[in-house]
Amino acid sequence: MISRTDINGTIRFAFDKAREKAPGSGFSAARKVERRFAQQLRKIARHIADLVETFGAEQTDALTYALDRYGEIIEPWARAVSGRMIAQVSEHDERAWMKLARQMGMSLKSEIERAPVGIRMQQLLEEQVGLIKSLPIEAAERVHKITTEGITKGLRASEVAAEIMKTGHVTKSRANLIARTEVGRTSTTLSQARAESVGSRGYIWRTAGDTDVRESHRKMEGRFVAWNDPPTLDGLTGHAGALPNCRCYPEPVIDDAEA
Ligand SMILES: [Zn+2]
Repeated sequence: MISRTDINGTIRFAFDKAREKAPGSGFSAARKVERRFAQQLRKIARHIADLVETFGAEQTDALTYALDRYGEIIEPWARAVSGRMIAQVSEHDERAWMKLARQMGMSLKSEIERAPVGIRMQQLLEEQVGLIKSLPIEAAERVHKITTEGITKGLRASEVAAEIMKTGHVTKSRANLIARTEVGRTSTTLSQARAESVGSRGYIWRTAGDTDVRESHRKMEGRFVAWNDPPTLDGLTGHAGALPNCRCYPEPVIDDAEA
């Protein structure tokens, strides 16, 4: 069977297809870029796991020193890796805009090219460099905290050691979370900057459309959101794609009257 008709007479398959090819679907974050960025950040987690294994629970002073030093020396690397990710997300977003303009029969090329994204990209870069450097620094803090608590709570050395050895794993989870959150946030930030430069006042909230979408975000699917009024979901305020671990994305709405 090629298509199925529901009680309202809507052909579902046709609708799903239309959704896939909807003008705004290109605004979803670039998953390939996210995978690559996550791979890069996990390299840091692996190196941290190596340092933890090398020094072990017996040499925590040397370990925290090495982790802090590592946080310092990765800055140029973090800058390069983040810079590349932002450039790739920006290209992806620009392509989505060109596709949308073509489908709407509008010429937005010059407006999109003139959109003030440079300053946003610079801010994103600085924030991401800070987050990447925080991976080893937080690992060092974790080791320090566990060691201190081990003494004050009178824990067995083996318990303390086991907890310290988990540091690489904890860092890996944080690396994955940072990668997903930052690629989405970069994508949404650049889409917003470009949307506002063409007079857009808001967007339609789109979810990834699968079973992993959390309930509070699922309820937002298809809703109009003004750029100047991000919703608060689960206690966090932000736009589609710009919340922690969020795979949603904004589908910009362009006012015909202003076009
Ligand atoms: Zn979401």
